Amino acid sequence: MIHEILPVGPLQCNCSVVGDETTHEAMVIDPGDDIQQVLGLIRKHNLQVKQIVITHAHIDHVGGAMKLRKATGAPILLNQNDYALLKMLDVQAAWIGMAAPEKVEIDSSLNHAETIKAGSLEAQVLHTPGHTEGSVCLYFPAENKLIAGDTLFAGSIGRTDLPGGSYDKILKSLHDRVLALPDETIVVPGHGPLTTIGDERESNPFLQK
Ligand SMILES: [Zn+2]
Repeated sequence: MIHEILPVGPLQCNCSVVGDETTHEAMVIDPGDDIQQVLGLIRKHNLQVKQIVITHAHIDHVGGAMKLRKATGAPILLNQNDYALLKMLDVQAAWIGMAAPEKVEIDSSLNHAETIKAGSLEAQVLHTPGHTEGSVCLYFPAENKLIAGDTLFAGSIGRTDLPGGSYDKILKSLHDRVLALPDETIVVPGHGPLTTIGDERESNPFLQK
């Protein structure tokens, strides 16, 4: 699989460009900003974007989605439990001193256990509420890879003090759905360095019994 990880915007959200090496069909996950650079990666690998997947409706993850949709024609997918948060993008922009982005239109909801495809690539949607109500992770079983959004970080977990956040829910999501994955699974968090499920199971202070 082609996989480029580009930290975008002032909060350095990890935007992933994931593509099938044979068919060149691709998905882009969390195009928060810097869409010209994202498009540069798409051209570099000669990719055709089939899906724009948003792990949750925070501005640093979704801010560039409409620009990318205009450039590629690909639909934007977001779990419906985050639609209310998406309507607050102007409020979110004010929190971090950014200009409010244009209104983001969602083409379809991402539901738990649904499979998202691009060429031979298949990702399972895990609904993992807690950081936000509609947070999801994307699990690529054939590649042993998890795109975790802001649910799990190396040595930490997503904050739960923003609207829609719940500490009890994020812990339940992590224990029931994320830690259910194999230890060797590579985790690509929404910010910061990569990790594995095994490392986090062993040493993440938020995940100890
Ligand atoms: Zn977030």
